[in-house]
Amino acid sequence: MIDSYGREINYLRVSLTKRCNLRCSYCGAQNEKENNELTADEIEKIVRAFVGCGINKVRLTGGEPLVRKDICDIAGRLGRIEGIKKLALTTNGIRLKEFAAELKKAGVSAVNISLDTTDKERFEAITGYDGLHRVYEGIDECERVGLSPLRINAVLIRGQNDIDAQSLINIARDRKIDVRFIELMPFSDEGDNEKLVVKSDEILKSFPLLKPAPQKGTPFEKSVARYYECEGFKGRVGFITPISDKFCSECNRIRLLSDGKVKVCLGSDETHDLRAYLDDEKELGKAVRAAILSKPMEHKFSCGYGASHGLNKIGG
Ligand code: SAM
Repeated sequence: MIDSYGREINYLRVSLTKRCNLRCSYCGAQNEKENNELTADEIEKIVRAFVGCGINKVRLTGGEPLVRKDICDIAGRLGRIEGIKKLALTTNGIRLKEFAAELKKAGVSAVNISLDTTDKERFEAITGYDGLHRVYEGIDECERVGLSPLRINAVLIRGQNDIDAQSLINIARDRKIDVRFIELMPFSDEGDNEKLVVKSDEILKSFPLLKPAPQKGTPFEKSVARYYECEGFKGRVGFITPISDKFCSECNRIRLLSDGKVKVCLGSDETHDLRAYLDDEKELGKAVRAAILSKPMEHKFSCGYGASHGLNKIGG
């Protein structure tokens, strides 16, 4: 479906829960309770309505999607919806070893794993949990069961884990995994975002061997990431730059929150509650259409939006 600014909206990110088993310092997650989460049945109904409006790619996220006991049931229901060309997952990887095989059977293909450091102590300092080995085991299991493509998403924070840029890039050198750096967005009270964010140009300057990878005509043509490659590398290195170079004019996404609200833009407060329409397919379709049409032209991070919202609530 085309929105009010001529963008084709075909990508739905579904936050399954606000709960998370990690406490990443920059994310703003607190101790969230299970209350008010959509059931598997409700999620399926809403996603079907979105597919009726042209959504063909769905990503399961959160909070941490793998803390939901019914995660494989949800993935299976969505995996069976005709019209969804790609069912993807974003996870912190802690429970991935447990679920990788079943998720693959359910229809999940692409998996993004969030990993900000390759150092055990820094992992614990950032996430509040000594679990780096579990993330690596999860990645190994994804490779074993053939979940593909696999990507690592990393957020660098000045003074905390910026020294990890090299070792994270080395993962793309050694494995068929794309490693992407996402610029820190102002979602927590960590401090002045401008001072903490490590912008993509700064990383690129330190790694002159990275050369822009062709994107036109590849499956990544519409990706919000800019990709780079390096001779001898098995994977690529990508940059997602919501701060230094916003990509709103190409934004193709919309978000369903775990409580049934639609968030039309990551950097805006506008939401549309779909719960009231769950028993009426036609009205649900209309409400979804109205939500897509209300997507704003661009995000408001530069106008002070963000602090205290918590990306776990929004669905990262
Ligand atoms: N729990 C899942 C995970 O860790 O991938 C999904 C939710 S998490 C909120 C999704 C992504 O958002 C993670 O890659 C995380 O690093 C990123 N994220 C969280 N807070 C962020 C911030 N302030 N700026 C940029 N990315 C952020």
